[in-house]
Amino acid sequence: MTARELGFKAEVQQLLDLMIHSLYSDREIFLRELVSNAADALDKAHFMGLTHDNLVDIVGDAPGIRITSDEEAGTITIEDDGVGLTAEEAEENLGTIAHSGSKAFIEKLKAGEGSDTPDLIGQFGVGFYASFMVADRVVVESRSVLPDAEPVRWISEGKGTFTVEVGERTTRGTSITLHMRDDATDFVNPHTLNHIVRKHSNFLPWPILVDGEKANTGKALWAEQPSQVSTEETNEFYKTLTNDFEEPALTVHVSVDSPLQYHALLFIPNNRPYDLFNPEATVGPRLYARRVLIAENADDMLPKWLRFVRGVVDSEDIQLNVSREMVQKTPVVRKIRDALTKRILKQLGKLAKKDGVAGEGTPYADVWNNFGVVLKEGYYHASSKEKELLLPLLRFNTLSHDDDEGLMSLAQYKENMSEGQDNIWFITAESRTAALASPHLEALKAKGYDVLLLTDPVDEWLTNLLTEFDGTELKSVARGQLDLDEDDDSAEKADLGAFTPWLKDLMSNDVADVRTSTRLTDSACVLVDADDGISSNMERILKGVNQDVTASKRVLELNAKHPLIRDLVALHEAGKSDVAEPLARMLYDDAMLLEGAVKEPAAVGRRLQALLAQVASSALNAPA
Ligand code: ADP
Repeated sequence: MTARELGFKAEVQQLLDLMIHSLYSDREIFLRELVSNAADALDKAHFMGLTHDNLVDIVGDAPGIRITSDEEAGTITIEDDGVGLTAEEAEENLGTIAHSGSKAFIEKLKAGEGSDTPDLIGQFGVGFYASFMVADRVVVESRSVLPDAEPVRWISEGKGTFTVEVGERTTRGTSITLHMRDDATDFVNPHTLNHIVRKHSNFLPWPILVDGEKANTGKALWAEQPSQVSTEETNEFYKTLTNDFEEPALTVHVSVDSPLQYHALLFIPNNRPYDLFNPEATVGPRLYARRVLIAENADDMLPKWLRFVRGVVDSEDIQLNVSREMVQKTPVVRKIRDALTKRILKQLGKLAKKDGVAGEGTPYADVWNNFGVVLKEGYYHASSKEKELLLPLLRFNTLSHDDDEGLMSLAQYKENMSEGQDNIWFITAESRTAALASPHLEALKAKGYDVLLLTDPVDEWLTNLLTEFDGTELKSVARGQLDLDEDDDSAEKADLGAFTPWLKDLMSNDVADVRTSTRLTDSACVLVDADDGISSNMERILKGVNQDVTASKRVLELNAKHPLIRDLVALHEAGKSDVAEPLARMLYDDAMLLEGAVKEPAAVGRRLQALLAQVASSALNAPA
């Protein structure tokens, strides 16, 4: 193979231009990126060594990463004994963006969040291409671990093209030489390099030598006894692992010896990852089996609803000689997963207890604000034991507490229940504002009862399952008959005996029933969900995601004390159906309007016009 000049894919060039002109102040992360790649390559080689014979060996005594600097030449070289690259791999992997970090970075840039480019660089890491923040010429010499592969040399100045040619490396692995830019020669210094390695790559399990001296501790922190590890150490580990700048909200360190043997060091971040709701996002902790990396993201090690948990799991009981996919299906994995889930929930429980109802800025409130929606999703999928642990973690917005005052647990709601109140009341709605405007709340407000305001779509699923808490039933304010005892009987009430059957008959296309309401104080009427069938809020949610739902008919409830209803009943009794009928129809339209859920606005508009015409004409004809 002679030297071939090839063009970078457009996206790569875009990324390279960004790197070259980067104003990012922490340019030192180029080393973190290259060292991480080197460690990944070593992990892969180690793993292959367990399942293949006759691979290309290393020359030295032990595999590792060697960083050397040459002040005269102005170069830094990062060399590893990893899997190496074949010519095809070099061309493919170092010319396109197919990989995790850089890809996510580009996606975020495209999503228009590029104004913070420097921050994004730190947050994501941009992999190999970070070299071009500090170097104006990069030379990669590599030899694949596969016995028949030829060595390859890859060279680029980051300006549109790269060349690939036959190289001279004889031992397995890769060396990357950076010809440093004039403004980056400060890095060509063993002390500086040593410092950067310690800062970002301290816990990598492979020895990292800087000009011959070991720079990293290389301790597999997760395998230590939790009592022997300091918070500083775990925080530092978390930052190295995730590239997060902030400290984790919660750290869970588990070390178990029997019946199964495993270690886990898991973290709940202090911020919500941008792809928390992207079903394609890679999730799950790193999985090691006896310190050998099995999977970068073992998504079966924790349930989907703990997908925001980061960290490392390591077990001696996971068999190495099965394929990576197979690993994840074994009963061992299941057992470890269940145990870890329980531990995380228990520790969250402790944190939640400490916080009480406290508002924003307290550790658990922050966890809930970031991940509460996912935990509620979890309640739907969790086993019954997990549900028990999840229950005290749930937090709710309520009528009596607005956002600033913090959220309430169900236990707190129960404690604060009014005398005579038998149920935990909730309303599901699109937003807090919509919930507060709902006529369904009137009678409960009048009684001074608190109501949970549920505004996440997942709440519909949650309330389908969560029907009782500690012996008290959870009830929707918008469903079924409300049996509140009436305290105010002074107001004049219409007798709806003959009126409701007539109206029901009139409206049979739209409503399942018409009845007297006990939930209204101010409004004339309201629509409520029938005892069974899906709720109107659920209907709205499903329609929002283009699901075909047949709307279930609802019940129209009338406030017998309301002047409008009293007048309508009187009109009907007086046989004035021509007036009573259009007015009564408008009641239904009005109830829909109050919910913001008018199905046929044009039809409502027409009815309203006809009605207004009638009112206007009767006003004209009335005796002066
Ligand atoms: P990422 O690390 O996110 O996968 P990079 O741009 O850093 O993305 O690297 C691209 C790919 O190039 C890697 O996935 C790997 O296949 C290959 N690569 C990079 N550095 C090395 C190395 N030192 N040894 C072997 N392969 C490497």
